[in-house]
Amino acid sequence: MKIVIQPARPEQRRDRPAGDKLVFGKNFSDHMFLMDYRENGGWRDPRVVPYDNLTMDPAAMVLHYGQGIFEGLKAYRWADGRIHLFRPEKNVERFNRSARRMCLPEVDPNLHLEAIEALVRIDAEWVPRSAGSSLYIRPTMIATEAALGVRPAHECLFYIITGPVGAYYPEGFNPVRIYVSDEYVRTVRGGLGEAKTMANYAASLYAQEIAKKKGFTQVLWLDAVERRYVEEVGTMNIFFRIDDELVTPPLTGSILPGITRDSVIQLAGHWGIKVTERLISIDEVMETIETGAMKEIFGAGTAAVISPVGSLFFKEKTYKVQDGGVGEWSRRLFDEITGIQYGEKEDPFGWVR
Ligand code: PMP
Repeated sequence: MKIVIQPARPEQRRDRPAGDKLVFGKNFSDHMFLMDYRENGGWRDPRVVPYDNLTMDPAAMVLHYGQGIFEGLKAYRWADGRIHLFRPEKNVERFNRSARRMCLPEVDPNLHLEAIEALVRIDAEWVPRSAGSSLYIRPTMIATEAALGVRPAHECLFYIITGPVGAYYPEGFNPVRIYVSDEYVRTVRGGLGEAKTMANYAASLYAQEIAKKKGFTQVLWLDAVERRYVEEVGTMNIFFRIDDELVTPPLTGSILPGITRDSVIQLAGHWGIKVTERLISIDEVMETIETGAMKEIFGAGTAAVISPVGSLFFKEKTYKVQDGGVGEWSRRLFDEITGIQYGEKEDPFGWVR
């Protein structure tokens, strides 16, 4: 299918924020990609059009039953001006996995990549130039059929919007204070956790607000059945450096298979570090912190790349990770991954496109 391009007229162009005023998720570029689906006709009308409101029937099924999915990836401007994507085929693949779980139709991976590229090309000027900044890309699919009654929709919309975002750490690499939630859970095994669907984020809000009111940055999520095994931190996958081994929870169904997680596992392995995917209980985490064997804890995700954890608050007690500073491996992984993304370091895995 050919993507039809309808460029924005001058009056349809949007104000571009200054480089130092980039707030995450607040500014959107001039164009968006749209494509419609009907059960009997399949996908049709792939198009790039000026960014605008969507018109939807108030009975659109996504508004009632939450049948929708999304992705998040970034385009990076290199020093020579060229723009690159980081492992976009992994996002496209995960999007289709989320689609299957949510009974939504899959999108041809090549068309999806082509759509992302067409959008980045037409809005190339929106890819910021300041250090550590990027263009955030948000592919989304929603059930648009106007019908009440719980069943998969027969009509849906696939769209992609983009927007410039600033450096995640404008003031440097900051270890965060984490609140361990043993009351509320994000998802359950057999539930939606491994899909990137709206409901998981809705489920996270309440505990996140409690954590914020108590002065913490993020929630550490435990498994839903025993409230014992560590799952994720905020909207990131979690890693523990125990002595000279890197440990991360396995993908048991309630954890989002992060692309940064996969990159960390591959890079660490490439460096000769032992990486183990295994269940790790919150008791083991606390004990390991107390014996001093816990050298580093960090989150991994597209937004921050690596987010060092300075301390954990669990059952009214604070557990400081080492001296609460930035660990050696956290720093090295952050420098290496961002170096590859911005073309400053060699790309041994062929991750950039
Ligand atoms: N877990 C959750 C719940 C997330 O929303 C994200 C962000 N997509 C991640 C982990 C990290 O995934 P990625 O490295 O692909 O950004």
